[in-house]
Amino acid sequence: MAPFLDTDIKFLKGVGEKKSKLLKSELEISTFADLLYTFPYRYVDTSRFYKISEFTGEMPTVQVLGRFVSFVIEGEGVRQRLKASFFDGKRYMEIVWFSKINFFKTAYKPGEYYVLFGKPTLYHDIWQMAHPEVNAYDAAKPPSGFKGVYSIPDKLRKRGQSSRLLSDLERNLFDNPKIKEIGETLPSEVLERFNMMPLIDSLYNLHFPQSPDKLKKARERMKFEELFYLELHILRYSRERGKRIKGFVFPHIGDYFNNYYNNHLPFELTGAQKRVLKEIRNDMRTGRQMNRLLQGDVGSGKTMVAFMTMLMAIDNGFQAAIMAPTEILATQHFETIKGWREKMGLKVKLLTGSTGIKARREIHAGLLDGSVNIIVGTHALIEDNVRFKNLGLTVIDEQHRFGVAQRAKMWKKSEVAPHVLVMTATPIPRTLAMTVYGDLEVSIIDELPPGRKPVQTFLKLDSNRTEVYRLLNRELQLGRQAYIVYPLVKENEKLDLKSVEAGLERVRNLFPEYKVCMVHGQMKVSDKDYQMNQFVSGEAQILVATTVIEVGVNVPNASVMLIENAERFGLSQLHQLRGRVGRGADNSYCILMSKNNISGDTRKRLGIMTETSDGFLISEADMKMRGPGDMEGTQQSGIAFNLKVANLATDGQILNLARQCAIEILNGHPELVEDSSSSPDVYSGGVMKLSAYSVDKIRKELHIRFSKTYDWSQIS
Ligand code: ADP
Ligand code: MG
Repeated sequence: MAPFLDTDIKFLKGVGEKKSKLLKSELEISTFADLLYTFPYRYVDTSRFYKISEFTGEMPTVQVLGRFVSFVIEGEGVRQRLKASFFDGKRYMEIVWFSKINFFKTAYKPGEYYVLFGKPTLYHDIWQMAHPEVNAYDAAKPPSGFKGVYSIPDKLRKRGQSSRLLSDLERNLFDNPKIKEIGETLPSEVLERFNMMPLIDSLYNLHFPQSPDKLKKARERMKFEELFYLELHILRYSRERGKRIKGFVFPHIGDYFNNYYNNHLPFELTGAQKRVLKEIRNDMRTGRQMNRLLQGDVGSGKTMVAFMTMLMAIDNGFQAAIMAPTEILATQHFETIKGWREKMGLKVKLLTGSTGIKARREIHAGLLDGSVNIIVGTHALIEDNVRFKNLGLTVIDEQHRFGVAQRAKMWKKSEVAPHVLVMTATPIPRTLAMTVYGDLEVSIIDELPPGRKPVQTFLKLDSNRTEVYRLLNRELQLGRQAYIVYPLVKENEKLDLKSVEAGLERVRNLFPEYKVCMVHGQMKVSDKDYQMNQFVSGEAQILVATTVIEVGVNVPNASVMLIENAERFGLSQLHQLRGRVGRGADNSYCILMSKNNISGDTRKRLGIMTETSDGFLISEADMKMRGPGDMEGTQQSGIAFNLKVANLATDGQILNLARQCAIEILNGHPELVEDSSSSPDVYSGGVMKLSAYSVDKIRKELHIRFSKTYDWSQIS
């Protein structure tokens, strides 16, 4: 990168020592490059002037042309403020300054025309604008196009700064002829192939859009660039890692697998389950460590795939572990697997936080001497004193519930990293998965076991309660069971939400002839287990709960999932909850209860649930509305990357393109992979730690490294 960009910000025209300190502390802008890459967070239409008479409701930032009529200072001490009356030829509005009062009082000449730029708000029935950007009106320069709005921290705002601060500085930066030195950061081949805007033009248009179309092209180019470098980075590491980290070879399909497959399968595997097992089997033969993400909608039968993969490990003389995020789920896996392995002579053990000391010691010993073949457990498995004789495979269920560090610990339980199968029911697009989780291969179960009927889903308001209870009652009378889920454990004065504790009382009163049990996250594990077992065994017909039951729980006789305050839950979460019913062949129902006055957006969001049962579509919609950063678990897996322009949720197409280009470049230039080991190791026990890496840093580092050896224009 050219030295110009590394220049200290204090040397920019209009900055100096004092302002540079503020820019550094408040905006993290230390160099010209930092400034150049600080983009507006939104753009406003400055193609016209608004009239005060047009203001209504929630207003965006707008431009108004008019004159200051009068200035008065009101209040005392810290509450002192300057108010001006501003006239647009027809109506007046009030302009308020809370700081630098003496300066603003004399800064503008009454009677002259100014263009104000700010967000009008209604205060005591009078339209106000606080600390607007004020520019002298130049009749020769009519308003045009779009204008960038920069985010300004409160501390600077209080000192009278506005978005204008940055746009002025950007202007000064672009006025410096040396800015032409910054060159290009994408291979010319790529630029030509996709007809992309050159770097300097893109940067200019991001700060000063010359037209909506140019802004669009500029954004596309910058998005591509961010994602391209991100993908290059990830691919280089995963290739390097593939060469470096060896995995166990499982050459045999042996007795356990074959015996089980031929004699004990409780049901015919679906085509998708068979296909995925083949993919896994191929991985395990190669000598590379398997690192595979298994995506499959709720109820698609991931557990069976995990179990049969474990049999492959055992057939080759290894142990296998499966880790689940909750005790309920671990216990359920244990019961299931115990049922499946009967007649096979395998030793399967359960290890959780509530395993007693004596049993725990025995299990520890059994893992160490190899007599335990399969261990099922919770976080208890990652404790340091859990050691294995030869752990060959780790399965992590509902992996989004685990942090990166927790997953990494399971990698270290064996000298050679064990094969890893992580499972999730929260589907995300393949390219995104590979980006978020670094170098995972992805397998997808896209087929449900036969005979499942879609869960009938309704959105009901509080006013429909009687009707909902009628349905519940009918199902209970048919001998079915029901879940009722609440957002809170206890009633909370501040939040107008339903709680599971109050719910328990209400439900008991409503349905006195049935037994109601309760689970939530604040209960002791033993109580939770007891209550849960009441429901699993069928002794209790209704389970009131918080979302602790969200993952994995399997009670086929349950036919109703009633969710209170459904508007409070994310779509993926609702989908998970809904997956608890519809596990048998009969009709089942999911009722989303919501308060009467929900917004149109919420109604639309919940409406998606009633329209589709496709987890993939739901997750995509969820991601579009909430952003991947909000997606359960992705935050902790380090999805942020500090992307400035690109958005992993909505720029899927550009992401695919960027990845494709990065793959082509690395294929053509394998040498580029080689020096990656000299970079800080972003792997920790097989898990990428990308979160600490902002895309800026990646871009800078890779670009410097590559351009030392290669002329970008030569790479094709
Ligand atoms: P998930 O993918 O959500 O973890 P599970 O593994 O819990 O799903 O499976 C859901 C239910 O479907 C279980 O009761 C399981 O026994 C059953 N199941 C799994 N595979 C099949 C199949 N091929 N045919 C019929 N039932 C199946
Ligand atoms: Mg499961």
